[in-house]
Amino acid sequence: LAKEKEREFYLYSKEVAKQFEVGLIVREQLPSAIEKGQLYLLYQPIVSTRDVRVRELEALVRWNHPELGNIPPSLFISVAERTGDIVRLGEWILRKAVRECSELIKRNPVGISINLSAKQLKEDEFLEIIEAVVSEYGIPTGRIQFEITERELVEATAENINILVKLKDKGFSIAIDDFGTGYSSLSYLTKFPIDTLKIDMEIIRSMEENLRNVDLVAAIIEMAHTLGMDVIAEGVETEKEFQTLRLLRCDFVQGYYFSPPAKLEELRAMLSL
Ligand code: C2E
Ligand code: CA
Ligand code: CA
Ligand code: CA
Repeated sequence: LAKEKEREFYLYSKEVAKQFEVGLIVREQLPSAIEKGQLYLLYQPIVSTRDVRVRELEALVRWNHPELGNIPPSLFISVAERTGDIVRLGEWILRKAVRECSELIKRNPVGISINLSAKQLKEDEFLEIIEAVVSEYGIPTGRIQFEITERELVEATAENINILVKLKDKGFSIAIDDFGTGYSSLSYLTKFPIDTLKIDMEIIRSMEENLRNVDLVAAIIEMAHTLGMDVIAEGVETEKEFQTLRLLRCDFVQGYYFSPPAKLEELRAMLSL
């Protein structure tokens, strides 16, 4: 038993060491990754359940590292949040998404959805940047949605809230991301100017296991509608999930069932946008 524990510990510490190493590499190299052109955006369609049309494209950042290969955003975004690099990275993502999609937005009734970290909502500068970007490309603010996670909203400061209110006043949409991932207080739902609620894929997946969870999703959708919000279900992978969500009057769905995150060019061709 002792030997086994020893081996477990050995494997565990190797795993920790590896993560630590990747953490260090990310920390050191992320700032220059932008200049070196190692970052790019994929987009995933958000589809209306009513007419099965694309309403938005969510921008999802990718880092193709020359030695490590694809580093997942779940790994480098959290590092960038800790180091503060997220502010510069977030600005790059915003500019890139608007620039790449501006023609498509003008030609089609489609918007873009961009993930924001709470750290980005600290600088008043963010408001100036976003206003400059939309006016440069002539995009109506209503075509841009910002996603902020439930976790970050729960922890939001007065300054964060203030910036969200200002964004909303300027016509941008605000979505709450990863809804239902275990944060007990719901009071924030009425404290913030939220337009859309995105139900986390874990909850969508749980519908398969237990019929009670279908009731739970039904209740979330009803609550959101009562509060005047639209609902997007995340991580929809099967026809059955799609049909169930449609019956529950979920407004939009996103997931592999329609498309994984893909290059803009591919989506443009596939969806004739
Ligand atoms: P998220 O915002 O919840 O994004 C959804 C994630 O689920 C994406 O992972 C997407 O590829 C994946 N996904 C989509 N449909 C399905 C499905 O049907 N099944 C399954 N199993 N997965 C699906 P990704 O791209 O790895 O992003 C992970 C997280 O990284 C995002 O979660 C978001 O929190 C963060 N992130 C990604 N891009 C950005 C960004 O530009 N800025 C910020 N601040 N965060 C970002
Ligand atoms: Ca998101
Ligand atoms: Ca999400
Ligand atoms: Ca998530």
